Amino acid sequence: MSAQSSNQKRIVVVGGGFGGIETALGLLHKKRANTKITLITSIPHFEYTPALYRVVAGASPLETCIPLKDIFGGKDIEIVRDTVIDLDIEEKFVKGVSGSVYAFDYCVLALGSEVAYFDIPGLKELSFGFKSVHQALRLKRHLHEIFDSCREGTSEEKVCACHVLVVGAGATGVELAGELSMYLRRLAKQHNFPPEFITLDLVEAAPRILPTLKEDISKEVTYQLRNLGVNIFLNRTVVKEEVETVFLKDMQMNPARSCEGSQRTYGGSTSIGTTSNGVKTKTLIWAAGIRAHHLYREIRGLTCDEGGRVVVDEFLRAVNAENVYVIGDGASTPYAGMAQTALRDARFVADTIVASLCGRKMREYVPSSVSHIIPVGEGWAVALIGHWRFYGKFAWWLRRIVDLRYFLSILPLRKALLVFREGTSLCESCEVCSSAENNT
Ligand SMILES: Cc1cc2nc3c(=O)[nH]c(=O)nc-3n(C[C@H](O)[C@H](O)[C@H](O)COP(=O)(O)OP(=O)(O)OC[C@H]3O[C@@H](n4cnc5c(N)ncnc54)[C@H](O)[C@@H]3O)c2cc1C
Repeated sequence: MSAQSSNQKRIVVVGGGFGGIETALGLLHKKRANTKITLITSIPHFEYTPALYRVVAGASPLETCIPLKDIFGGKDIEIVRDTVIDLDIEEKFVKGVSGSVYAFDYCVLALGSEVAYFDIPGLKELSFGFKSVHQALRLKRHLHEIFDSCREGTSEEKVCACHVLVVGAGATGVELAGELSMYLRRLAKQHNFPPEFITLDLVEAAPRILPTLKEDISKEVTYQLRNLGVNIFLNRTVVKEEVETVFLKDMQMNPARSCEGSQRTYGGSTSIGTTSNGVKTKTLIWAAGIRAHHLYREIRGLTCDEGGRVVVDEFLRAVNAENVYVIGDGASTPYAGMAQTALRDARFVADTIVASLCGRKMREYVPSSVSHIIPVGEGWAVALIGHWRFYGKFAWWLRRIVDLRYFLSILPLRKALLVFREGTSLCESCEVCSSAENNT
């Protein structure tokens, strides 16, 4: 434990994502004398997840990977790279995997969430996740390898290799499917591969895509995705994944069409039960399950709801845990699971801690609803802002403005503009594609 002057207050923020960074910036903005702010996080950069779908489709990862030193350089804050493995509520310290112990007077937990596989056999081992820059780059590399490896194969091998399944048609799955529809065709062209072998399916367990949004939005987005050549399958859940085969509940592959790329069908009005043939694919992208970080369930003294989120009081403090605040994806609040909520929680908690330090009365947390701007392919998006709805290019630009506004809120102007520009610059490490880029 580090030495401390007698009445110095130590504020430890855990997690360098949306919530953690905003809390730290808020605290710095209103910094009191004799307080020490420490941000502990497991990776040295911030991942801007709303732009991950662009990384899969060849955009530079520099937009999604912002070094913490660019955000906090020169500021009065200690940044520690460590993975927190425990928190002692009574003794008021957190413990890192490095063996270090960080004592606190106030602690803010902003650990985010992780992919949930719901114990579906084979899924964790064989599917592609889409939650981090590392996973996005792994998926991109895999897509390039597919086009390289099966150029000489039989038609059946090509159909299997170029069949991509995105599972989960929430905002993340929809964004990704829209972007992949164009990217896969571009890859086919650059790798000199017949595009008719490409099949892109979006599989959803609910009766419609974007099930948490209004029905008319689902309809518009369905139409847009179909125009982009995405096949949409509803009321379908993954029950098992094996090497190169995925099994869906109530699935019957139409044998007459099994090799016709985009004409594939799963199930039919009469088919019941899972058949043994499965869907032949090398690429299942799992965008259907997220749950709060596992550490929340492991820390003794925290109470979690059914989804593993920490139950908090009206000041976002974990119940029965004095001065331990939980924000963002990990807090059991009505709009958790969105970056906007994590940012609002963070501003609230920074204000609350400062109020507590000054002995002022703290105001209560009021959850507020979130906006949605979902891009679906190049230059088209749907925006739902309050009662307003926008579709098309305007909504797409709104989304870009939101990205820029966020970068400007955490970075100096020049760096924010550089990062923003990276979102539109291509970055291909595959030899075939980088030489194609150089020739254009
Ligand atoms: C692909 C994708 C697209 C998204 N698009 C949008 C969008 O368009 N709009 C929107 O509002 N939301 C979007 N979200 C949701 C949004 O990313 C989350 O709601 C938001 O990141 C939650 O913020 P957070 O601070 O709770 O956690 P995070 O931002 O995930 O931050 C968690 C941080 O904690 C660190 N950490 C984890 N474990 C430890 C540990 N043990 N010790 C130390 N540090 C640790 C992590 O490295 C990370 O830095 C998207 C999510 C994904 C996956």
